[in-house]
Amino acid sequence: MTVVTRFAPSPTGRLHVGNIRTALHNWLLAKQAGGRFLLRIDDTDAERSREEHVVAIREDLAWLGIEPDGEERQSQRLAQYEAAFEALQAAGRVYPCFETQQELELRRKVLLGRGLPPIYDRAALRMSDAERAAREAAGEQPHWRFKLDHDEPIAWHDGIRGPQHFDPAQLSDPVVRRGDGSWLYMLPSAVDDIEMGVTDVLRGEDHVSNTALQIQMFTALDAAPPRFAHEALLTGSEGKLSKRLGALGCDAFREQGIEPEALVALLARIGTALPVEPIAAREVLVESFDLGTFGRAPARFDDAELERLNAAIVHQFDFGHVAPRLPAGMDRAGWEAIRPNLTHVAEAADWWQVVTGPVEVPDLSAEDRAYLADAAAMLRWSDDPWHGLTGALKQATGRKGKGLFLPLRLALTGRASGPDMAALLPLIGETEARRRLGAAAG
Ligand code: GLU
Repeated sequence: MTVVTRFAPSPTGRLHVGNIRTALHNWLLAKQAGGRFLLRIDDTDAERSREEHVVAIREDLAWLGIEPDGEERQSQRLAQYEAAFEALQAAGRVYPCFETQQELELRRKVLLGRGLPPIYDRAALRMSDAERAAREAAGEQPHWRFKLDHDEPIAWHDGIRGPQHFDPAQLSDPVVRRGDGSWLYMLPSAVDDIEMGVTDVLRGEDHVSNTALQIQMFTALDAAPPRFAHEALLTGSEGKLSKRLGALGCDAFREQGIEPEALVALLARIGTALPVEPIAAREVLVESFDLGTFGRAPARFDDAELERLNAAIVHQFDFGHVAPRLPAGMDRAGWEAIRPNLTHVAEAADWWQVVTGPVEVPDLSAEDRAYLADAAAMLRWSDDPWHGLTGALKQATGRKGKGLFLPLRLALTGRASGPDMAALLPLIGETEARRRLGAAAG
């Protein structure tokens, strides 16, 4: 059976790092099995869903390189939900309820006050037909609950959490449809998973109790439930799912100069027993993906770790991969010389400016200026002018270490540290190098 996974965001906002991670894991799970990864836009909440978010979700997935093999939209599948609802109605598995929010809230409070779990008491099931007819005649629109089968224990083997058991009598019958006829997330999701042939539902552990309810929906709709796995949620370094992480999306990462490869490498592995490594090759991440390595503890998202990974990934990038983003004139030799010094690709422009000049040299001692005058005179061009120059200066002046190198670096680049001078000097070129040494000598 072909593995089919899905990522099901609600387009009520931009994707954030938590749901990017869920999307990635579903993509990895499908690709590893040679299966299909679907995007399902959960837009049954017409009021809060926005088209601009749908567009942004597609763009973000494209930027991340986790493009779906198909896309569905819940708002276009209302007829299917209606049909499933009718089938459940015929089977006596949904029932109308007339309680207001306030009534339900009050009952919850009473139960909690008595130290009891706030489970819906099924009062609506005990209503007489006459009473129901009277309320409908008075123009009241019922909402609908799915009737859990209390005689059917709920169990599944979770791909991450292991064996799971729920007693349906300890759960409230979930509301599946509002009084205005609109759908809550629960039933459409089960209907879609059945009709789209989803074999594996991988989502956050905040959905564990939804899974318990949905398993009975699958059965009530005569379908075998898919495999389920629930991953521990993401937390920030501050130790909880913070507001900041909830707002951290692809646009912010892009602005920060984070490469999609770095974000993907991090999110593929945090919270698992596998090491977080700067793996830019997607097939390596696909091959090593394993739900069995996922831990139960929250996965910690650490910005410093992402920056480190970004640097290590940038250091692997070939010239061709970054060429369109490099400053005009910067060639392969320039990229390869400067690359080891970058955390973000955009910083290449600063270093290229150092190569092309002008550079501003800090004040130097009279002694160092004399040394640089010697250097200007002794500069000979070759395949490796840097080692030629420093070798000759070492012999002539007896200088070594910092005393030998630092004044040269300062004169040639205006900075005390940076890329390997042996790689940089040929880029600066003979005439300009001699000019800079001479200018710094004063
Ligand atoms: N739209 C739901 C959410 O974003 C989907 C959950 C699911 O994966 O079933 O929470």
